[in-house]
Amino acid sequence: MKPYKIALIPGDGIGPEVVAEGVKVLKAIEEVDKNISFSFTTFPWGCEYYLKYGKMMDEKALDLLKDYDAIYLGAVGYPGVPDHISLRDLLIKIRRGFDQYVNLRPVSLLHPDLTPLKAKSEKDIDMLVIRENSEGEYAGAGEWLFKGNPEEVVLQTGVFSRKGTERIIRYAYEEARKSNRTLTSISKGNALNYSHVFWDQLFEEIGMEYPDVETYSYLVDAASLYFVTQPERFGVVVTSNLFGDIVTDIGAGITGGLGLATGANINPEKSYPSMFEPVHGSAPDIAGKGACNPIAAIWSVSQMLDFFGLEDWGSAVLQVIREVLKDKESLTADLGGRATTEELGEYIIEKLIK
Ligand code: ATP
Ligand code: MG
Repeated sequence: MKPYKIALIPGDGIGPEVVAEGVKVLKAIEEVDKNISFSFTTFPWGCEYYLKYGKMMDEKALDLLKDYDAIYLGAVGYPGVPDHISLRDLLIKIRRGFDQYVNLRPVSLLHPDLTPLKAKSEKDIDMLVIRENSEGEYAGAGEWLFKGNPEEVVLQTGVFSRKGTERIIRYAYEEARKSNRTLTSISKGNALNYSHVFWDQLFEEIGMEYPDVETYSYLVDAASLYFVTQPERFGVVVTSNLFGDIVTDIGAGITGGLGLATGANINPEKSYPSMFEPVHGSAPDIAGKGACNPIAAIWSVSQMLDFFGLEDWGSAVLQVIREVLKDKESLTADLGGRATTEELGEYIIEKLIK
C-alpha cells in the first residue's frame, strides 16, 4: 500500500507543539488501520529560519514540496519579523504556487458552551464557508500615484477572472449538492459595481446547472449580521477572498475562538499538494509552555483525512473532538481546563482508537 506523503512545516511558536499532536493522531490511525499508512517529512521553515538565513523557506521550497499529497502547517510568525513577510514569503507563496484556490473553513459549533450567542445550539451553527483563495481583492494589484503629493491617490484593484470566479462558485455548488445543503453567496454587488456584479451574475448563471440546490444571495453587511443573529440560515457559503477572510473570523467568534478554528487550502484537481492548518497564529505569549490547545490542529487533520477520501476517519476524529469538549477537566486552559497540550492530545487519541 502506498503511503500518503505528508510534508510537515511546524513553523514557529506553538506551531510545532500543535503539529506534534496532529501527527500523533495520524500515527495512531495508521497503527489501528492496517490499510492506511502515512509518511512524514519535516521542513524547518518559518520565522526562526528567516532570522538565521534571511528567507522564510528554501529557494527550492515549491519544488521540494510539489510531490507530497498534503502539507501540514503549524503557524508562522515571530515578534520582530513583520507579519507581511511571513505571510507573503511562506503562506501566500505556497497557496499561489500550488493553486490552492479553495479555502475551506468549517464554522461548526462543537459544544453549546463555546458560543457567546445565547440560545444557539450545535444545530444552529453548522456551516461550511468556501472562500476564494487565489485572486479577488487580495490579488495584490493596484497603483500608488503621485506619492507624497497633495494629489496622492492609491488604487487597490480587485481581480475577478471568469476562470477564477467560476471555479470557486462551481466548487461550492458541487459541495452543496453533495452534502444536500443550501448554498449562500455573500457579495456586495450594490457597491462594488464591477467585481461583485460579475460575481453575482456568475453565481446565478452557474446556478442554472444546479436546479436541485437551494440558493440565497446576501450582501456582506447583512450576512455579517445574520452570522450573529441567525446563523441557522447558513449551510454552505461561498464568498470572495476579502469577505471570506472577515466572515470566517466572525465564524470563529461564534464557535469558540481561535484555539478551535481550522482551515484547508485546497487544490481540488490534485495537480499540487493541498495545505491544512489551524487558523490561529504562533501565539508567542504561550509558546513552549505545553499550554496551547491542539484541537484546531487536530481538526485540520480531520479535514486532511476527508480530503484523502478517508472520510470515516475524518468524521471519527471530529466526533471525538466533540466528545472531549464535554469533559471540561480534560481541556487546556484557554477552554477552562487544566490539561497540557500533550495530555489533551493523548486523551483524544485514546478515545479515537478505542
Ligand atoms: P501570529 O503573529 O503568529 O499571528 P498572534 O499572537 O498574533 O500570532 P494568534 O497566535 O493567532 O495571534 O493568537 C492570539 C492569541 O490567542 C494568542 O496570543 C493566544 O493567547 C491565543 N491563542 C491562539 N491560538 C491558541 C491555541 N491554540 N491555544 C491557546 N490559545 C491560543
Ligand atoms: Mg497575528
